Amino acid sequence: MSPLLVAEGLVKRFGPVLAVDGVSFSLAPGERLAIIGPNGAGKSTCFNLIGGQLRPDRGRVILDGRDVTGWPASRIWRLGVGRTFQIARTFHSMTVAENVQMALLSLHRRTRALLPRANRLWREDALAVLAQVGLLDAADRPCGELAYGDVKRAELAIALATSPRLLLMDEPTAGMAPAERHALMELVSELATGRGIAILFTEHDMDVVFRHADRILVMAQGRTLAMGTPSEVREDPEVRAIYLGGGMRREMVL
Ligand code: ADP
Ligand code: MG
Repeated sequence: MSPLLVAEGLVKRFGPVLAVDGVSFSLAPGERLAIIGPNGAGKSTCFNLIGGQLRPDRGRVILDGRDVTGWPASRIWRLGVGRTFQIARTFHSMTVAENVQMALLSLHRRTRALLPRANRLWREDALAVLAQVGLLDAADRPCGELAYGDVKRAELAIALATSPRLLLMDEPTAGMAPAERHALMELVSELATGRGIAILFTEHDMDVVFRHADRILVMAQGRTLAMGTPSEVREDPEVRAIYLGGGMRREMVL
């Protein structure tokens, strides 16, 4: 299958810090790739380079055969790249359904629709997505009132509403209890398989990573330390040294 996403030799420097230093990978439709590594390894920067929040100093981002390097985030989003952030971003005073409707309105360029009408526009579609993530009951509650795990699910619904082909998820389960984490990733995995959505995610919980990733990219100090299937990565001597050999272990597993 031809890749949906190709990241080719990405480099990003912040002053003296080489945040991302020659990272390459590809992602097939429906594939789940986890990026792991200690804090500061360059994971979030990779997401921002692919999502268009940052422009790489070198390297290319190819989406569906098209070079989108340096394109603004909104244009990349319109090509079918949804994302969730390390710190959830929702409009707290708006209801859960309205948050999802906003994404749909924005995709269809109707953000200037009169607010009372915006209330109704895309509501059915929004409710359908909320049902998928198990948030239908909370549709008319302000996002600000939700428990944290539900905010993360609302954020997933917002990302899914626009039918992305690629989902970028930066620590989607951060702050969740272990059981909740698996439930969310289970849901994401079903979507990946069922709809062929490719998933790029980071995650500190190694249980979640090894259970829900098809392939794992291990980063350290901006570089690729290892890449392969979960069992390949588990057996990699360098990764084992880092995970099992002391020094960085606590940071990696966090
Ligand atoms: P991770 O997500 O793996 O924890 P990041 O990609 O956030 O790592 O950060 C990689 C490195 O780049 C870190 O040293 C971090 O301090 C630095 N960095 C990230 N974003 C910025 C920024 N906007 N300005 C300056 N330095 C940054
Ligand atoms: Mg990060």
